[in-house]
Amino acid sequence: MAQLHVLMIPLMSQSHIIPLSDFAKSLARRGALVSIVTTPLNAQRYKPILDTSAAQNLRIQMIPLHFPCREAGLPDGCENLDTLNSLHLARQFFHACKLLQAPLRALIHQLRPAPNCIISTSAISWTQDLADAFRIPRYVFETVSCFTLHCSKKISNVTDKDGVFLVPQIPHRIEFSRNQLPQISTQDSDPYVDRVPALGRGTLVNSFEELEPWYLAACREERGNVWAVGPVSLSNREVSERFKRGNEASIDPHYCLTWLESMKRHSVVYACFGSLCSLSLEQIIEIGLGLEESGFPFIWIIRKQEKNSGEVEEWLAAEGFVERVRGRGLVVRGWAPQVMILSHPSVGGFLTHCGWNSTLEGVSAGVPMITWPMFAEQFYNEKMVVDVLGIGVRVGVESCMEKQGVVGRERVRCAVEELMMDEREDRRERAEALARSARDAYEEGGSSSLNVTLFIQDVVRANAELMVNV
Ligand code: UDP
Repeated sequence: MAQLHVLMIPLMSQSHIIPLSDFAKSLARRGALVSIVTTPLNAQRYKPILDTSAAQNLRIQMIPLHFPCREAGLPDGCENLDTLNSLHLARQFFHACKLLQAPLRALIHQLRPAPNCIISTSAISWTQDLADAFRIPRYVFETVSCFTLHCSKKISNVTDKDGVFLVPQIPHRIEFSRNQLPQISTQDSDPYVDRVPALGRGTLVNSFEELEPWYLAACREERGNVWAVGPVSLSNREVSERFKRGNEASIDPHYCLTWLESMKRHSVVYACFGSLCSLSLEQIIEIGLGLEESGFPFIWIIRKQEKNSGEVEEWLAAEGFVERVRGRGLVVRGWAPQVMILSHPSVGGFLTHCGWNSTLEGVSAGVPMITWPMFAEQFYNEKMVVDVLGIGVRVGVESCMEKQGVVGRERVRCAVEELMMDEREDRRERAEALARSARDAYEEGGSSSLNVTLFIQDVVRANAELMVNV
C-alpha cells in the first residue's frame, strides 16, 4: 500500500471532532493521509487545527459537506451539537447527520486516492453501510472510557434499578442510582437513535492500557479488537497547538500564560463545564460566588449560551465581579484553551462536568478534579475518577442535571477547599503518577503508540483480505 488514506467521519460535536482530529495527527505523523468529513461551519471553526498540522507537514484535510439543517427541521447554522439552543433538538440533529449518507456515498466515489478505511465515532453506526458498500473496513472511535463501556453493559442487565444498586461482576465497588444513568429515548421505534451500535472491524478508544487495564481486557473479551490509543490530546505538543483546539479561544494566549506564570505552583482552580452543559443563571451565580469564597485563585469559563448570556453579563456587571476578583480570578466568557491551561504547572485543581475528553485531559495533566457530572455518561466518569483512580472530590450531585436542584456556593467552596487543601497530597501524587504513565503510553514505544501500530497493521491486513476476496 503506497500511502494509507484514512477517512474520518465524526458526529458533528466538539467532543467527537476534537479527539478525532487529535488522533488524525498521530496517524499523519506515521505518514498517513487523513481526510475528516465536516460541514462548512465546522470546517471554518477547526481550520486552525489544519494550519498547525500543515506547519508540521502533516497531511490532514477537512472535507465540508452541506449539512441538511432545513431538511431535518433544524434552524440554519445548527451544524454542531453545541449550536443547538436546546438538546431537545438532538433528535432532528441526528436526523440531519443521517441525511449525510447520500452525499458521503458520492464523496467516497470521487475520493482519490480511495480511502483504505473509515473511522467513525460512536452514535453514527449507519457509516457501516457505507463501508460495506465500498468494501472498506470500518472502525469505531469511542469517545467514552472502557470503564463506561463495560459498566453500562453490566448495568443494562440489572433488573431492579430502584434505589441504589451495585454494578455487578466488576472488581470495584461502584454504586449507581437510576437518576444518574444516561436518559435514552424511550421510543423504541425512533429511527435516529443508535440502539444497537454496529461495531465494525475494531474499536479505537481514547484511553490507555495503564489507566484501566481490567476494563480494557473486559472490552476486548466482548468486542475482539480494541486498541487504546490515547490520551489523544497529547498529540498537541506545541503551545500553539494546545491553544488552537476547538473554537477560537476567548482569551489572549499570552495574557493567559502571563497570568498563570504569576501564580504559585498548583494554586489555581480551573473551572469549565465543557461544550454542551446549559447552566441556569442561578447556578452560574452560585459557582462564581463559591469560587470567590474559596479564596483560591481561579480561571472560570462561562460558556456563551443564548438562553441567558445577557442576564449573565448583567449580573457580572451589577456585582462588579470581574473587578472584585481581579488579580486572583480570571473570568472567560466563551471558549478556553483548555489543554493549554490544564498543562500549566500553576493549575492545581479542575472543577469539571466530567465529559470524557475533559476527564482524560485532567488525567494527562496530572491535575486532581472536583467532579460535577450533569448528563450523558458523566456519572460513570465521576465514579472512575473518585472511586477507581482516587484523584477526585465530589461536589456532591446525586442526579442528572434535570432532576438536580441548584448546587449552592457553600458546596462549591467546600469541595474546592477539600481538594486544594489536601495536606497529605496523596490525591495529587496519584494524579501525577497517572499523568506520567499517560505520557509514557503515548510516547514512542509506549502502549498507545504500539496500539496505533497494531491498528495500522490491521488496516493493511483488512485491505489485503478484501482484495483477495474480490
Ligand atoms: N473545550 C475547550 N474549551 C472550552 C470547553 C471545552 O477546549 O472552553 C474542549 C475540551 O478540552 C474537550 C472538549 O472541548 O476536549 C469537550 O469534550 P468533553 O467530552 O469534555 O465534554 P462535552 O463538551 O461533550 O460535554
